[in-house]
Amino acid sequence: MSKNLCPNSKSCPVFAGKGETGDTPLALYRNVFCYRGVNGWGNCKTYIINQKDLKEVNDRKEKLKTIDNPGG
Ligand code: SF4
Repeated sequence: MSKNLCPNSKSCPVFAGKGETGDTPLALYRNVFCYRGVNGWGNCKTYIINQKDLKEVNDRKEKLKTIDNPGG
């Protein structure tokens, strides 16, 4: 896998052509966002939302650890 390819590409519906790219053809969308390294991914709404969701899940896991083991 190219280091410039978005790490979400295998599971991303937009990358698979099943998501919304507006008026932009899929090949162009991929070149602008998916194959551009972090500079491209960082401008992709799908990537940003995924990262935010991932952070929230990890934050919840940390909170649950604290609740399960309040003394540390
Ligand atoms: S850059 Fe965006 S559209 Fe492309 S694979 Fe990553 S999350 Fe999906």
